[in-house]
Amino acid sequence: MPHCTVARRVHFNAAHRLHNPARSAEWNRTTFGLCNNPNYHGHNYELDIEVAGEIDPETGYVVDVSVLKDLAGEHVVAALDHKNLNLDVPWFRDRLPSAENIAVFCWEQLAPRIPRGKLARIRLWETPRNYVEYHGG
Ligand SMILES: [Zn+2]
Repeated sequence: MPHCTVARRVHFNAAHRLHNPARSAEWNRTTFGLCNNPNYHGHNYELDIEVAGEIDPETGYVVDVSVLKDLAGEHVVAALDHKNLNLDVPWFRDRLPSAENIAVFCWEQLAPRIPRGKLARIRLWETPRNYVEYHGG
């Protein structure tokens, strides 16, 4: 059967601060710039979830995108939307809430739950000009 990639885009807003407490205030300011703002700041994130696999001859689908939508809503958007990532999301207690780490978080939430095909790529847009990709390794 032919292979195909299916994608669903979801949106969430979240606040964060990039600050490594092991380093000096000056190092943090220099390294993280505006993302080191002491009182946090927000981003409008867009997350592209891509699932690849064989087309099911019975449905014509690789995976039902409404299932992707529901999984992302339950396990990503509900966990991150309108949250302060540093304070509200335990996964980030020991990790900097950078776009890279948020992409890994999204992967870990979604990959084991994809019912058909395989999670192939996560693309997380932190701004309309910046994105990170994660392939699970
Ligand atoms: Zn930021």
